[in-house]
Amino acid sequence: MKVDEKKGLKVAIPTFGCQMNEYDTQVAAGLLAHQGYTLVEDESEADIVLMNTCSVREHAEDRVFSRLGMLGKAKRGNPDLIVGLMGCMVEEHREKLFKRFPQLDLMIGTRNIKELPALIEEVASSRQQVARIKQDGISIEYTDLIQRDSKFHAWLPIMTGCNKVCTFCIVPITRGAEVSMPAREVYREASRLVGEGVKWITLLGQNVNSYYGAYYGGVTDSATLRQPGSHSNASSEFPELLDMLCQIEGLERISFTTSHPSDATEELFQVIAKNPKISRRFHLPLQSGSDKILKRMKRLHRYEDYKQKINRLRELVSDISITTDIIVGFSGEAEEDYEATRRAIEEIRYDGAYIFKYSVRAGTPAAKLPDDVPQEMKEKRHQDLLALQKEISMGKNRSWLGRTVQVFVEGQSARNADDLLGRTLQEKKVVFKGPCDLIGTTQSVTLHDVKNETFLGRLS
Ligand code: SF4
Repeated sequence: MKVDEKKGLKVAIPTFGCQMNEYDTQVAAGLLAHQGYTLVEDESEADIVLMNTCSVREHAEDRVFSRLGMLGKAKRGNPDLIVGLMGCMVEEHREKLFKRFPQLDLMIGTRNIKELPALIEEVASSRQQVARIKQDGISIEYTDLIQRDSKFHAWLPIMTGCNKVCTFCIVPITRGAEVSMPAREVYREASRLVGEGVKWITLLGQNVNSYYGAYYGGVTDSATLRQPGSHSNASSEFPELLDMLCQIEGLERISFTTSHPSDATEELFQVIAKNPKISRRFHLPLQSGSDKILKRMKRLHRYEDYKQKINRLRELVSDISITTDIIVGFSGEAEEDYEATRRAIEEIRYDGAYIFKYSVRAGTPAAKLPDDVPQEMKEKRHQDLLALQKEISMGKNRSWLGRTVQVFVEGQSARNADDLLGRTLQEKKVVFKGPCDLIGTTQSVTLHDVKNETFLGRLS
């Protein structure tokens, strides 16, 4: 297909799931725009619909299956419509989805994104179902074609996959074993982003703090770090990489997600304490407060170990904000196990928590365990913990009122164009009045009220 033919073609990439998927979508959009395609938000306008999918929960998959049904109907009215899938459902289900959904034309694995333009051409010319799903290697593409949705913030994946074996989790199946980008590549890409005006970088990985990449051999000045070959082949771990990236001039903030408790080390906490550029939000999933359930989940730690790490981090970084993930209703969760989780939330007093009801994921080790907590009990425990956490979050947020904090201005508020939206170093949302030329800068803002999770402030 010639470029001018592509010019007329519109592509929509509805994206589900985590920031890693958001990053992959930004790369895909950039590669296609570079080929002349037009990216659109509204699927009903599109000639090509590529869903970037998530497998972490049954619900996420069901949404994609029902969208595929609707696209099947749309295709009866427009046989030229191209329908494709990217992301974790492709890795999990592979070509078998072609049989179940004849309207599906294209399946692209998470390691094959750079082949996207060629694969679309292949479908358009052959009108056959095409799949490209590579099993090994790293599924991260650093490209200056990427279409980010912010001028000042960038996602930066540094590793993919996970070597942990949490029994409820599909990630080791869909994203494979851990593979880390060499530190020099990460450094080079981060420097390139800052060169483009990015001020805040978020490092991504399914288990970001088990990063293990090639090292820079003690060289500290950024000019040398950018020289190809200026690095020895020794390996570096996450704390070192973080410390190294903090040296990049012009980079104002660096955050990362998601961590595993057993890789949350003293070294990491020391690097966070030492570097004011590093976000003061630390997301550390607990999942359950019961050691019996943590064992059934194969989380590789007890509640006491986790609590000691939180206390140590709070000792070193007094303004740290801790958030977490919790699963209620996991197989075998008796009343006393649930109470242990409730006590943990009361004891640790998180700034926020994502609380999920357990749903069995086919293919995970836990799928062999009985899903023996009745749905209404899961519902009851879920609502109870949500209410408890809401009360704690509100109390913690109220303790910030009256304080003047540093806010990174991300853009205009979606609700009111006269308002600006930004985030504190703890990544709490703040809305305040101010001119648009403050976007991309850090401003002092006094917090005078809080509504749900968003603070109202005044420039100081
Ligand atoms: S550490 Fe996270 S990504 Fe890895 S298996 Fe456990 S829950 Fe899944």
